[in-house]
Amino acid sequence: MITLEQRQQVRQRANFACEFCGVAEVDIGDQLTIDHFQPKTKGGSDSLDNLVYCCVRCNQYKLAYWPTEMSDTQLWNPRQEPFVEHFLELEDGLLYPLTSTGKFTLNRLRLNRPLLVAYRLRKRKQIEEKQLLERYQELTQLLEQFYHQLSNLTEEQQELLREQRDLLKLIIKWAR
Ligand SMILES: [Zn+2]
Repeated sequence: MITLEQRQQVRQRANFACEFCGVAEVDIGDQLTIDHFQPKTKGGSDSLDNLVYCCVRCNQYKLAYWPTEMSDTQLWNPRQEPFVEHFLELEDGLLYPLTSTGKFTLNRLRLNRPLLVAYRLRKRKQIEEKQLLERYQELTQLLEQFYHQLSNLTEEQQELLREQRDLLKLIIKWAR
């Protein structure tokens, strides 16, 4: 039995997103499932290092996979190996496998399912838009600083002009 406390720990540790495909609770509008990486039916335990936070779809595709023969391919364990070790995300949002484990996991969990690819592209676009907005804000700040300096400079120039005029008046008065 997974306790409520364990569930909370697994959720937090996974940053509230599927550890296989990256879809977050807020994208789905609900909590995700907890997967036993080594299935309980294949001897897996309820210990935290065997629990993976997992969306319903990834969980359905993974099922109770566990390699039994030496020749069986290992499934990628997101708790033990970084994503970038096994996959490359391409420009068009598709994942490209870098290892045999990556290739196997990609096929088994259908990590290039069309809606997931569309999700990846949308997420990337949101990040790009956010970066663009930040750059725009920086530029606006710089412009504000520039106008401030310019107005200071104009005031100084006017002051200088006033002094010159006063000086000229004095010279004219003295020359008479
Ligand atoms: Zn998933």
